[in-house]
Amino acid sequence: MKIIAYGTAWFSDFVIESGVADETNTWNFLCVLFDNVNVTLPEQKEQTINLQLTQIHKEDIINCMRRFANSMQEMSLGKIKINYDIVETDTPITSMSYDQENGYYVSGYNVKEVIDPYIQQGKYDHIFIAFRTGNINQEQKLEKDWIGLGYMEYRGIGFSNIRLPENDHDYTYKYDSRINTFPEEVFVHEFLHTLERNAEEYGYERPELHNNELYGYQNKPLIGLKNWYQDYMNKTIQTQSGNIGLPNEIYTKKPVKASDFIFSHRLQYFNEPDNILEELNNMVKKVKILFEQVGQRISN
Ligand SMILES: [Zn+2]
Repeated sequence: MKIIAYGTAWFSDFVIESGVADETNTWNFLCVLFDNVNVTLPEQKEQTINLQLTQIHKEDIINCMRRFANSMQEMSLGKIKINYDIVETDTPITSMSYDQENGYYVSGYNVKEVIDPYIQQGKYDHIFIAFRTGNINQEQKLEKDWIGLGYMEYRGIGFSNIRLPENDHDYTYKYDSRINTFPEEVFVHEFLHTLERNAEEYGYERPELHNNELYGYQNKPLIGLKNWYQDYMNKTIQTQSGNIGLPNEIYTKKPVKASDFIFSHRLQYFNEPDNILEELNNMVKKVKILFEQVGQRISN
């Protein structure tokens, strides 16, 4: 049966406002701890995952967020400042998204009931969600199962998964002077994917975050790829044709959010034509950034 709908769509009270973009280098992060995952994966023979964050997991994540905020400021030599809030919810994650390359992951849409109210506050520039699953991607024949997933966005804001392992003896997120002195690495890595994506969208040249080996950077004991991230942030990766990395300006290019419009004014339609065009152009760019990103692109 074919259903064809007829009708007329009406738009009323359509207002274009221009706001003052927040161009400081302070980023507000939200980290949401999802205490419960209760999900059935249909492609995996109805495999059900029912796992909880333990108190130890929560403490590890709280510790990592504090270290992440300090490390980003230190490693970028002060180019970025980070404020953050950590919230915990007992509302379970009950659905996951699926992608051929990355297998199962949690998109913003899977947890929108929990995170939308925070986004509506208009305060946050990036969101981490932390949750625990088993080996969800074991049967997907992925090159490597991920623990963090980034390069995503949700409602115009960078969005990353921080996955906690099922195994309690894993040191990925634990500081230990003999095993791991950079436990915030997954957070740094995933946020740099957002800056990497933003740089591309603003038309800057930048190396791919996963191309460390191409430029001679190896994973090291204790600190992982810390040196690579530091050079990536400061555009101090040396090549034959000069230094490369993220552009300095990227730290002030945050998502457009409701708070940018608190002091907004209505466009003056009787301005000089140049002015109107300029304002409209800026608006269109912002609207484009907000809405074009709805299509999700992800990488691990
Ligand atoms: Zn990655």
